[in-house]
Amino acid sequence: MRFDVLTLFPEMFEAVLGDSIIGRARENGLIELNFIQIRDFSTDKHRRVDDYPYGGGTGMLMSVQPIYDAYMSVIKDLSYKPLTIYMSPQGRVFDQKCAIELSKNEHIVILCGHYEGVDQRVLDEIVDMELSIGDFVLTGGEIPAMAVIDTVARLVPGVLASVSSYTGESHFNSLLEYPQYTRPPEILGRSVPEVLLSGHHANIEKWKHEQSLMATYNKRPDMLEHAELSKSDIEFIEKLKKE
Ligand code: SAM
Repeated sequence: MRFDVLTLFPEMFEAVLGDSIIGRARENGLIELNFIQIRDFSTDKHRRVDDYPYGGGTGMLMSVQPIYDAYMSVIKDLSYKPLTIYMSPQGRVFDQKCAIELSKNEHIVILCGHYEGVDQRVLDEIVDMELSIGDFVLTGGEIPAMAVIDTVARLVPGVLASVSSYTGESHFNSLLEYPQYTRPPEILGRSVPEVLLSGHHANIEKWKHEQSLMATYNKRPDMLEHAELSKSDIEFIEKLKKE
């Protein structure tokens, strides 16, 4: 899967997406990441990429020309239009469901805004989708873009060791993950739940599922409305409500 990121701060990305799981996926050719410096495409003699907004208002806006030319440099030799996303506090709020949908694309272009945002005309021209990472405003689209790339990239086949690495995780099935433990079996006066040491596979799976229901009920009960629950799950939750 390929991502092209249009940004004024390409150097910010390598620190986050250069190592660990995503770094390895890049080395293995599973993920291609390109960071395009919008400023390199400015035709202004001072390489300016922003200007004052018409109609007044505080701050500066990113102007059309450098963004459009940077975008054209990415798509000029393609026979298709890659899904083009503008990171924006006005967009669809990003979640795991959205990440799964995005991971089905072969190629995504992400535009990171800065200052007060971007001239609407270039958004109307190139953008297919606006995406927000939450109802708050950051100074730029770089951190949101990194969050999206990291989340989507780990869903690409082969990036994680197995599909079960993410299908059992929080949010995949509108449930939170069960608590986990590693060695030693006892520390700080606290023990690993006995069932996990029992070697009894069926009991372990039952425990994990019930803990997952319990964590969701306690921490994010709103999520249970969207979860696919069996009759015994519903009975288990009813029991929790009575406790
Ligand atoms: N003036 C804009 C508004 O009120 O909608 C906000 C501009 S913000 C200071 C600068 C840039 O940060 C935006 O163009 C966008 O790319 C990015 N950004 C800020 N908050 C974001 C969020 N919650 N999700 C995604 N991108 C965000």
